[in-house]
Amino acid sequence: FEQMPDAVAGVAERLRQAGYAVWLVGGAVRDHVLGVPPADWDFSTNAPTQDILTILSPPYRVVTFGLRHGTAHVVTPDGMVEITSWALNGHGGIDKDLERRDLTINALAVSYPDGTLLDPFGGLKDLKARRLRGVVNPLERFREDPLRPLRAARLVSRYGFQVSRKTRAAMRDAAPWLRHVAVERIRDEFWKLLLGPHVMEGLDLCRRSGLMAVFLPELLEGWRKKQNSYHRYDIYRHTLLCVHHSPAQLRVRLAALLHDIGKPRVRAKVGGTYRFYGHEKQSALMARDILERWLTSKKLTDDVVLLVENHMVHDTDAWKDAAVRRLIRRVGLPLVDDLLELMRADRLAHGVPSEALNGVERLRARIRRILDEKPALSPKALAINGRDVMQVTGTPQGPEVGHILNQAFQLVLRDPAKNDRDFLLKWLEEKAMGVTS
Ligand code: ATP
Ligand code: MG
Repeated sequence: FEQMPDAVAGVAERLRQAGYAVWLVGGAVRDHVLGVPPADWDFSTNAPTQDILTILSPPYRVVTFGLRHGTAHVVTPDGMVEITSWALNGHGGIDKDLERRDLTINALAVSYPDGTLLDPFGGLKDLKARRLRGVVNPLERFREDPLRPLRAARLVSRYGFQVSRKTRAAMRDAAPWLRHVAVERIRDEFWKLLLGPHVMEGLDLCRRSGLMAVFLPELLEGWRKKQNSYHRYDIYRHTLLCVHHSPAQLRVRLAALLHDIGKPRVRAKVGGTYRFYGHEKQSALMARDILERWLTSKKLTDDVVLLVENHMVHDTDAWKDAAVRRLIRRVGLPLVDDLLELMRADRLAHGVPSEALNGVERLRARIRRILDEKPALSPKALAINGRDVMQVTGTPQGPEVGHILNQAFQLVLRDPAKNDRDFLLKWLEEKAMGVTS
């Protein structure tokens, strides 16, 4: 318990002082055994939910949205603590509590404060063997909550463990039931899966078990679909590799996952080779659909779609600086680095040695140089504003003003030296006199 943050220990201590039994359970125990820092802290106690409320708040804020399952969420300065109470749902004790958990490696408990370890299902042995096994009867566990197979896949993605044969079979049988699980729960587990270091194994387990057919059937359309000669792998495999090669950051990983999602639908064989004309448009459309289906925030959806739409950037060495500035403007400054990461991952995932990889690095250096020159990247950054336009040209307030500003902006994108107040005022004057530029 030494590694437990003070506020978290405070929660356990208060419950103990009130005379209740407190056990640390779940991921924190598992991660402690594995020697990795836990993502969050989960307790199990015989205190009724009502008492948890009065004992802990104040000073903590207690949210009991999990009341139905006998869980309370405690907000502490050191993060969220989840407390399961045996008093509800007839949990009836720590043994019963552990029995209701999903996997043996998650069904470990350590009593607070004396540190007695409870391991009724051989979770420690499974941890050492790097093996995932459902508690007692996996299929029954999965029937109770069909999200559990996806939780197993996300732990595969995090730890690279093997799933025991029986549990794997149960995953296959239980996969179709995932349809009945709330999409937010699927999304949250899936996003954890996407961020794992063993994401390829996690994703491929989703395919093999049938989970993917429920929540991302579009990706299966790329299975064994050949690409052009610049690629070594089929569309599906290439996508997995692209996710694997992208940094573990949700926005980029989602873009990597969806960057070619429309390819199977535009695929055409022309003169013996495969062509994918305009696939990025199709992929962007489908990416939006998929993200909206998962109730993704608008911001994240827009960002990912923008990355997908703009990932087909080639031969940038031949581009003029103006084209690079236009690209920066199109994806926006905050997404430029992610786009470069996506391009790099995409090319690495071709599986064939590619000079194009160096092209990405040259583009990266070039973008850096161009940004150092602090170019105007939106009409707002122009040396003139709407008032100038109205005064000099006599244009009344309205959309025409914005239209003229945008013309000036296009001029400046082409040549940053023109973002000069005197020059632009003169340009406006000439415009007002009907001299076209
Ligand atoms: P993380 O390290 O990401 O927090 P975790 O395994 O701790 O992973 P949580 O969602 O925090 O996952 O859940 C805590 C514990 O609660 C799990 O270890 C598991 O014992 C149990 N648990 C969570 N969700 C379920 C579920 N759907 N079915 C059964 N047990 C679950
Ligand atoms: Mg946890």
